Amino acid sequence: MKAFTRRALLVGTGAVLGVAGSRYLDNEPMLRGLPFPPKVNAAGAKVLNDASLLNPTRVAKHLVMQHDPKDELIADLRVELAEAKDAGRPFVVSAARHSMGAQSLAENGTAVTLDQNWLEPDTSAGTYRVAAGMRWSQVIALLDQIGFSPKVMQSNNDFGVASTFAVNAHGWPVPWSAFGSTVRSLRLMRHDGEVITCSRRENADQFSMAMGGYGLTGAITELEVEMVPNARLIPKFEIIPAREFGSRFIAALAKDPKIQMAYGRLDVTIANFFDEALMITYTPAADQDNLPPVEGSGFLSRASRDVFRGQLKSDWVKNLRWIMETRIGPWLGGGEVTRNSLMNEPVVTLDDRDPTRTDILHEYFVSPSRFADFVQACQDVIPASYQDLLNITLRYVDTDQDSVLAYATEPRIAAVMLFSQEMSARGEADMARMTTELIARTLDIGGTYYLPYRLHATDAQFQRGYARAPEFVSRKRALDPALVFTNSMWDRYMAKL
Ligand SMILES: Cc1cc2nc3c(=O)[nH]c(=O)nc-3n(C[C@H](O)[C@H](O)[C@H](O)COP(=O)(O)OP(=O)(O)OC[C@H]3O[C@@H](n4cnc5c(N)ncnc54)[C@H](O)[C@@H]3O)c2cc1C
Repeated sequence: MKAFTRRALLVGTGAVLGVAGSRYLDNEPMLRGLPFPPKVNAAGAKVLNDASLLNPTRVAKHLVMQHDPKDELIADLRVELAEAKDAGRPFVVSAARHSMGAQSLAENGTAVTLDQNWLEPDTSAGTYRVAAGMRWSQVIALLDQIGFSPKVMQSNNDFGVASTFAVNAHGWPVPWSAFGSTVRSLRLMRHDGEVITCSRRENADQFSMAMGGYGLTGAITELEVEMVPNARLIPKFEIIPAREFGSRFIAALAKDPKIQMAYGRLDVTIANFFDEALMITYTPAADQDNLPPVEGSGFLSRASRDVFRGQLKSDWVKNLRWIMETRIGPWLGGGEVTRNSLMNEPVVTLDDRDPTRTDILHEYFVSPSRFADFVQACQDVIPASYQDLLNITLRYVDTDQDSVLAYATEPRIAAVMLFSQEMSARGEADMARMTTELIARTLDIGGTYYLPYRLHATDAQFQRGYARAPEFVSRKRALDPALVFTNSMWDRYMAKL
């Protein structure tokens, strides 16, 4: 009895020490590796970062401008632009800085954050004029009041409208191309302070350079954008083999032109990595009367945050989430929801609240006919890395007819991935290695990758993925001879072309 008690005590104490020790050890620097990014010596300057948290950048000046896009804003922008040009400093205009490779930042530059609230709808034309720095949450709130909805925007509402144009973001409304295809015209401040109108008829060459041009040809002050009626929608769920997703998605969209929103998800458990897909399509309900006001992030998406975050390092929770989304959710029957409520999702809903990790997005564009090859590439590359994929969403993007740096040179499936990355030197190195490998495999099947995320692509990959990059660069040099509109992406890939 005595011996048993002693052994039990030893085992018990060992277990307690083991648990406490593992918790303590989890915080051991040697297990976390060297921190990344290294500390920046600001020496009196301001340091700004973007959503990656991996790009601390010294800037000479940071200004937040909130005026309507009228005389006062134009005058302020002109003064700051002229000062930056005289001082030989880069001038970068941005909004929420959710790009992840310092596309919204330049070392020792002038950084302008636009944060406005100005929108003028024209319901008979089905368009609205909007300030460049207006956030999509504000756009949706105002359009909702008059029964309209954005025609295309990205999946979260925190971003600025001109940023969406400058990266030519896409979302999950179908069957359109990216946001730029829904922009009729814009006002652009050139390097010399002149403000011009650009559209497909007026200064068309500058319109196509500004669309998806990362602010490298001028500062956009306002845009004229198309809108569509808001609608009450009903979801339909289908589980299909992941490799068939490309063809089945295209067939579903072709078969039912009433589909307004559509996306897919893949199983991310390591045990069944990318084996199964869920396809969700939304069509209008029969009853379109008395649409309810737009809702913010729903209770379910807030509650599902814990499950979403619980997936980190746990195949069990990933599997639980997949079962909830594919089996329980559809069985419960997804309810009716308005188009505006679907689009009104803030990034913060899924915030990780963990200072030792950061969320990093990747995105790849492939032809629907090569989707099975893309699945194979991901199965080969991602589970073999140290990176933890928490989510992948699939969308449809039609051919981009306008932008020079187009990523949808044909109809494409967009695969948006969210990884949780350890903020350490080894986490960064492994992510860089894995990203280059995934990009290489995607390029080999005729696809490409998205530019607003980390700058891990090699020079050769950038030029292969964006075949018109040399043309973009030479036209940019002609439009901005003093190279005042530059950012870290320019420095990394284009300055040398
Ligand atoms: C959680 C998350 C979800 C996302 N989902 C999607 C998605 O569904 N689809 C998609 O396509 N993308 C998506 N993205 C990418 C996102 O659309 C881009 O990163 C976008 O740029 C974010 O907007 P922002 O206001 O933060 O832009 P910023 O990072 O502030 O700016 C982006 C670029 O636009 C330029 N720019 C901004 N304003 C102006 C202006 N007034 N004049 C000239 N240039 C300007 C900046 O200089 C910079 O180069 C997502 C990103 C995150 C972090």
